[in-house]
Amino acid sequence: MFRNLKAVGRILYGRNSFNQLDELLEELRTNNDSFVVFLLDHYFEGKELQKRIPLHARDFLRMIDVTDEPKTKTVDAIVAEIKSHGNSLPVSVVGIGGGTVMDYAKATRLMLTNEGSSAQYQGLDLIKNKGVHCTVIPTISGCGAEVSMTAVLTGPVKKLGIKGNFTPADQLVIDPELIESVPDPQRFYTAMDCYIHNIEAMNGHRKTVMGNSLGVESLKLSREIFLSNDSRSPENQEKLMIASYLGGLSLTYSEVGACHAISYGLATVTGIHHGIGNCVVFNQLEEFYPEGVKEFKEMMRINNIVLPTGVTAGCTPEEIDRMIDVTLTLSFMWQHLCGTEWEKIITREKLRGLLLKM
Ligand code: NAD
Ligand code: ZN
Repeated sequence: MFRNLKAVGRILYGRNSFNQLDELLEELRTNNDSFVVFLLDHYFEGKELQKRIPLHARDFLRMIDVTDEPKTKTVDAIVAEIKSHGNSLPVSVVGIGGGTVMDYAKATRLMLTNEGSSAQYQGLDLIKNKGVHCTVIPTISGCGAEVSMTAVLTGPVKKLGIKGNFTPADQLVIDPELIESVPDPQRFYTAMDCYIHNIEAMNGHRKTVMGNSLGVESLKLSREIFLSNDSRSPENQEKLMIASYLGGLSLTYSEVGACHAISYGLATVTGIHHGIGNCVVFNQLEEFYPEGVKEFKEMMRINNIVLPTGVTAGCTPEEIDRMIDVTLTLSFMWQHLCGTEWEKIITREKLRGLLLKM
C-alpha cells in the first residue's frame, strides 16, 4: 500500500510577509467569540517581533521556554490553559519560533480535539480527530517542522513524534527577515539538520524520485549558502528557508538514517539538542555517508564552526548501553540505510565504537 501523504496546507512567502498575518487570521475569525492562540519563542519576549503580533482582545499569547525540547507534559499544560481561557476552541494555534515552538503548536492544536495526554499519541496515526487550524512561522531554519508530518515530543517513556496526516500545519508563513537574528553556531547546527535530512533521505532503500528531486534542490541551496564566503547575506538567508522547506518535504517521501537514529539515542541520555546532536553524530559517520561527511566538514571549516568534543566522555557503560538500546529501536531508519538484513551490519559494538568517539 502507498501512503497518501500530507504536507502543509498553504504557504505565504516573502520578505516581510509576517505583516500579512493579521489579514490571514482575519479570514478565520468568523464571530465575536473567535480567538487565536499565539505560542512565541521566549527569545522574542519584549523584542520587536512580539510587538508586531496582531493580538486582538480575546487572543491568548503564551511564551514558550525552549531551553528543553518539547515535552508531552508541557503540551498538556498548554492545552489546559487554552481550555480555561474560553468555552470555545481557538480558530488557529500559531507557533512562532523554531522546531521547538512549531512542534508545540502542531501538538497543541491536535490535543485540543483529542482526549487524554499527548503521550498517548506518540507514534504513527494514533490521533483520532482532526485538530484545530494551525499556523507555523519559522524564525530559525533547517529542521523542516514547518512542513513535516510529525511533532517530535519527549514523553515519560520515549522521544517520539505524533506522526500522521492530521499533524502538518494548515498555514506556513516563510519570512526570511525573521531568521536574521539567529546567532552562530545555532544557525549552523539547525541548518545542518536540513543538510543531514537530505543526505540521509537520498542514501537508502526508501529513496524515491520524488524525495530525491526535492533533496537535490535542497542540497544545492545548502551548498550555495555554506560553501560561500557570506552565508549570512539576505539572499542566502532566503535560500536557507527554502532549503529547509524542501528538505522537510524530501523527508516526507523518504526516511532519515544513521545520524538521526544515533542522535535520538544520544539525546535520550544526554539531553543534547537536535541540531547540535546531529552535527556531533554526523561528524563521525564517514563509513555510511563518505561524501556527505567530507562536505559537512568543509562547511564547518568555512564557517568557523568547532564542534564540542567528549560529549559521551562522562557517560557510564550503562548509559552508553541505553543510547544503543534507543538507537536500535529505530529499525525503520536502519532498514532504510542498510536493508532488511540491517541487524547483521549495525551491531551493538559498532554503535558503541561510534558513540565513544563523540
Ligand atoms: P529550536 O526551536 O530549539 O531553537 C534553537 C534556539 O534558537 C533557541 O534558543 C531559540 O530561542 C533560538 N532562536 C529561534 N529563533 C531565533 C531568532 N530568530 N533569533 C535568535 N534566536 C532564535 O531549534 P530548531 O533546531 O529549529 O528545532 C529543534 C527542535 O525541532 C527539536 O525539538 C527537534 O526534535 C525538532 N525537530 C522537529 C522536526 C519535525 O519534523 N517536526 C524535525 C527535526 C527536528
Ligand atoms: Zn532532524
